[in-house]
Amino acid sequence: MYCKNCGKEIEEGTQYCPYCGISQNEINNISNKESNIWGVLSLIFGILGGLLGLVFGIVGLCTYKEKQNRLMCKVGIGIFIGWIVLFTFISIISIILFA
Ligand SMILES: [Zn+2]
Repeated sequence: MYCKNCGKEIEEGTQYCPYCGISQNEINNISNKESNIWGVLSLIFGILGGLLGLVFGIVGLCTYKEKQNRLMCKVGIGIFIGWIVLFTFISIISIILFA
């Protein structure tokens, strides 16, 4: 058989390619399943209150087709919007209190 990553001939049934070290099963999983890096980033930055949460969420929504991944991006965007609402609310309160 041939390595799915580098294409060199390797022993039949070998799990890790001795040339590039890539798992022959892993490659299958990656190509079968969408990675959800944008959703994860969207969630992380959304929670941190960064504008990037919104950006990554939108990128994810444009990229992903799987329902679960899209949901994660929407949650990231939702958390970001939550922060904006909270921030606006706090700003208004402090303007009222300190003006
Ligand atoms: Zn290889």
